[in-house]
Amino acid sequence: MRHEAKSKRESEGAAKAIRSGDRVSLARAITLVESAKPEDQAKAQALIEQLMPHTGGSIRVGISGVPGAGKSTLIDQLGLNLVAQGHKVAVLAVDPTSSRSGGSILGDKTRMGRLATEPSAFIRPSPAGDSLGGVTKTTRETIALAEAAGYDVVLVETVGVGQSEISVANMVDIFVVVAIPGAGDELQGIKRGLLELAEIIAVNKADGDNIERANRAAMEYRTALHILAAGHSNWEPQVLTLSARDNTELDTLWQKVKDRHAALASSGLLNQRRSDQAAAWMREIFEQRLLAAFKGGKRAARHWKELEDKVRSGEMTPAAAAQELGRLAGIKDAR
Ligand code: GDP
Repeated sequence: MRHEAKSKRESEGAAKAIRSGDRVSLARAITLVESAKPEDQAKAQALIEQLMPHTGGSIRVGISGVPGAGKSTLIDQLGLNLVAQGHKVAVLAVDPTSSRSGGSILGDKTRMGRLATEPSAFIRPSPAGDSLGGVTKTTRETIALAEAAGYDVVLVETVGVGQSEISVANMVDIFVVVAIPGAGDELQGIKRGLLELAEIIAVNKADGDNIERANRAAMEYRTALHILAAGHSNWEPQVLTLSARDNTELDTLWQKVKDRHAALASSGLLNQRRSDQAAAWMREIFEQRLLAAFKGGKRAARHWKELEDKVRSGEMTPAAAAQELGRLAGIKDAR
């Protein structure tokens, strides 16, 4: 009992420190959230529960694009502009490749060197999670912590590969794709799936001799989006050109983000979107727990490897092996 009272006092103290804007406490809380230790998880959940009433107050923006598109240059400059306007800006990164390389590429503070030194900015590198779901789970909770700490703009950066954009799109209010004028095929590098997630496409590097090409790329995106949007109601993606390097049209970008956010809020769609996201998040966590519980069993782990080898050698199909694993785990066949 005494132990419980102590941990309650601890999390109350931490919650208070975070709300007062103490960066060290915020960083410590994020580390708790990212920890795999059950006792840290319990502390993290207690803390988040306490802070829950103080979350939700930011504009949550996802920023995606292929490596080299200029995401970090854009976030650095946009962040500086917003800080100068009195905003508190948190930058979080989701980098599914970081676990493989062993170090984080995204979120590296040196990539946003100027913003990193601003007292009103908070940059958090991506954790080296062992699954995409794991990374995004902690990112969602980190958004909540940053909001409780008074950050009114949260930028979530992700590299435009694979599943990560979808996960990020499912935790933000507005999804921005940073594109660059390509040589010839303007839509190169941007998959249809990514385009469909976009609410705003910012064609970057519209400077120097690139302006013409950037305008042309913007035209092509408008045409492509027009066709894609035909089947969707409520989706009117915006396209603009800008230069992160020269800080031109970044205000226009932010205005578009704000307009979209205001429209979502006034129509009730923002609340709906956020509550749908919360429900999906619950499901995701539950699925991960199931998976972790199953993989954690010694017998299951042994069979996992054995079946994986059979799949690798072509002896079994992935579907049959997955079904067998399900049987071993006592899951009734749901087909
Ligand atoms: P990221 O991988 O998407 O984060 O891209 P970076 O921000 O690291 O930028 C990739 C390269 O593009 C760097 O060499 C930047 O200096 C350059 N770059 C970024 N933004 C601009 C821009 O607006 N104009 C020009 N000309 N170059 C840019």
